[in-house]
Amino acid sequence: MSTQFSNYIGGEWISSSSWIPNRNPSDLNDAIGEYAQADAGQTNAAVTAAAHALPAWSVSSIQERANLLDKVGSEILARKDELGRLLSREEGKTLPEGVGETIRAGQIFKFFAGEALRLSGEKLPSVRPGIHVDITREPVGVVGLITPWNFPLAIPAWKIAPALAFGNTVVLKPAQWTPGSAWALTELLANSGVPAGVFNLVMGSGSVVGEALVEHPEVAAISFTGSMETGRGIARKAVARMAKVQLEMGSKNPLVVLDDADLSIAVNVAVQGAYFSTGQRCTASSRLIVTEGIHDRFVTALRERLASLRVGDALTPGTEMGPVAQQPQLDQDLEYIGVGQREGARLAHGGARLRGETDGYYLAPTLFVDATNAMRIAREEIFGPIACVIRARNYDEALAIANDTDTGLCAGIVTTSLKHAAHFSRHAQFGMVMVNLPTAGVDYHVPFGGRKASSYGPREQGRYAAEFYTTVKTTYVAP
Ligand code: NDP
Repeated sequence: MSTQFSNYIGGEWISSSSWIPNRNPSDLNDAIGEYAQADAGQTNAAVTAAAHALPAWSVSSIQERANLLDKVGSEILARKDELGRLLSREEGKTLPEGVGETIRAGQIFKFFAGEALRLSGEKLPSVRPGIHVDITREPVGVVGLITPWNFPLAIPAWKIAPALAFGNTVVLKPAQWTPGSAWALTELLANSGVPAGVFNLVMGSGSVVGEALVEHPEVAAISFTGSMETGRGIARKAVARMAKVQLEMGSKNPLVVLDDADLSIAVNVAVQGAYFSTGQRCTASSRLIVTEGIHDRFVTALRERLASLRVGDALTPGTEMGPVAQQPQLDQDLEYIGVGQREGARLAHGGARLRGETDGYYLAPTLFVDATNAMRIAREEIFGPIACVIRARNYDEALAIANDTDTGLCAGIVTTSLKHAAHFSRHAQFGMVMVNLPTAGVDYHVPFGGRKASSYGPREQGRYAAEFYTTVKTTYVAP
């Protein structure tokens, strides 16, 4: 029998009557383990444990919180190879990407160890004589964190670390497809001395555990990363009971390539942004908007690069693109490849499943050309290694196409023109803009988030995270 991994509630490892297997998408014969499935009762127990732990943790010393987060960060960094390997094994991103994500998770914990110490308020004179005003930030309460499968360690880290730093208690529900990284992080938190109930892990389905968390009256705030459809449903339920809510969702990110671009930079940036991590990133460049003068040269060079891209087992050295994470995601990718062909876009590379040395969900990096921005492949998030090239007459048209989307997470431009770079940075209607850099790949100490349908509520990460994980109090004092 394979190893079983339990939920963590109130400082105890709690078994379950139901378990699901976690399989390696690079090799379906490789079973990572069986992970407990919580029910609504266990979810409620986790919230109760977090509520009991809140009074003490919310007034704990900032040094205690900083020490805990720093220790967790150090442990993650010390175990980066082992944790990165587990991450790549369960999610399918390449080993360097898995280790990179692990390092980032460690750095996030260390950053928020410092933020616990830096949280400050303001003291202002009152407009009334003899009175002063103190503005302070306090924890929100019990926070429910709901995370997706594509960054199974970094996304939990960038929600857990600020939540704990600012004195909240936490219930985490990771994605069912990738519970292993969240479980490993939980074990590490437990071994680092997190007090009982301050952090709780409930694995299980969104429709059971996720919903119970969102609807629980003692959960004061919900931070969610995932799909738009799920996010909208969560927002409706959370707002109906006046809970604080923060959503990070998908996007159809544009990468604009202008005539004056350095061709090798453009191709590199496009390949990294569209295909690395198998395109399964909310910041992936899925619309490559290319101006006339460079279009044909860019497409030729990109096709050549894709032909040499090494697709294979995520854990094999030299692999540049791992498998798709799961069968339903692979099915969705293949369906969209059919949609693109039926819509009249021309398949310039890939388009089919690949057979690897192991039985995994391998898909060829896929490129459409002659696409228009009206096509579904240009409007709907696919979340796979699939990009489409849209031709634009000039910069103005490229910018208009880039902004013609319901989403707004990240936009990129490749150009040697300072004028166009500056104009694009100002006029791209996105939360993040990249100049001569891939749309995917961000720092951990600065805000992350988008506009339009991509995000809702305060930004995540950096010192902006305090906006969501604290609430402001204004105290008037007449000494
Ligand atoms: P989903 O929305 O399907 O799932 C996200 C999480 O929500 C999972 O833990 C899921 O549980 C849970 N969930 C599902 N239904 C409910 C519900 N009714 N109530 C509460 N929770 C629920 O997204 P994916 O996991 O498929 O992730 C991919 C999506 O995430 C993409 O669209 C991508 O763009 C987006 N994403 C956005 C990022 C950003 O920061 N903007 C970053 C990374 C991803 P279950 O385990 O059952 O699936």
